[in-house]
Amino acid sequence: MNCSKCNENDGVFKRAYSGELLCKPCFLNSIETKALHTISKYSMIGYGQRIAVGVSGGKDSLTLLSVLKKILKKNNDNDVIAITIDEGIENYRDESLGIVKNHCDKINIPFKVFSYKELFGTSMDEAMLKRPSKKKFSSCSICGAFRRRALDIAAKSVNADLMATAHNLDDHIQTFMINLISGDTDRIGWMYPTPMEYDGGLKKIKPFLELYENEIVFYAFLSGIEFQAEQCPYMNESIRSDFRDFFNNLEKTHPGIKYNCYNSVNKLSKVLHDSNQNLSPYSKRACLKCGNTSTNEVCSVCKTLFLLESQ
Ligand code: SF4
Ligand code: ZN
Repeated sequence: MNCSKCNENDGVFKRAYSGELLCKPCFLNSIETKALHTISKYSMIGYGQRIAVGVSGGKDSLTLLSVLKKILKKNNDNDVIAITIDEGIENYRDESLGIVKNHCDKINIPFKVFSYKELFGTSMDEAMLKRPSKKKFSSCSICGAFRRRALDIAAKSVNADLMATAHNLDDHIQTFMINLISGDTDRIGWMYPTPMEYDGGLKKIKPFLELYENEIVFYAFLSGIEFQAEQCPYMNESIRSDFRDFFNNLEKTHPGIKYNCYNSVNKLSKVLHDSNQNLSPYSKRACLKCGNTSTNEVCSVCKTLFLLESQ
């Protein structure tokens, strides 16, 4: 059957929620256009800004690097640099470092690695052995706190104005559910996609925020992007995997439900953010231990390091 957009080539991708059947060029173009649309809708990238892209070696981040390189080429003047965080997970991260390096060489983007060990004095493997309780300290909550800080340090050290990550629509609605069940309504208020300045003017941007994860995988496949298929050995401890399965099952029988949920999350987030803006007791301050921006007296990185070191 022919592509519903150009009506010339064979269709290769059925977009269930819109009913479109797309050929390869129209599908690739639709993803690039959607990313560009998200960037301009939320004013994510300004003229001449330097962009650090967090690249793990997985499909999403390698695809983000390729898409940014392609769509920003038209406007020039945005430098892009790839940043990889080495968590120190044996037999997992080592492989992806090689994959990222090859990809960056291929598309001619500079690449830098920063490790937990050098930044925080402990690798993830060591942290897993030292943590006091598996239940209270899930691998991903420790790793998430370290990664956010590591990306900030990395972005500043390469003089970036923006820190781009490959969070997609699926990640966004899963994060909402995690915040919801943990009662963290402040975090829901921070989920609205317009980037906010923090830490000396740096901004975080998510150009893939309105893309379904399965479409990013298909883009990577059609573009011949090689990515790491191996999953993190600590991954299945996260409740995120349960929400991923939950939404994917719903989407099979109700195409478009994830997109509806995404829109509702943003509406809720905006209301919460606006209502809380001046009154929030959680307004950011400097961590008493390390001086980094924190929502509490002591930041989550310092708290985690203290608990690991006291074992
Ligand atoms: Fe870290 Fe969890 Fe991701 Fe593994 S799955 S790299 S532990 S955040
Ligand atoms: Zn701190």
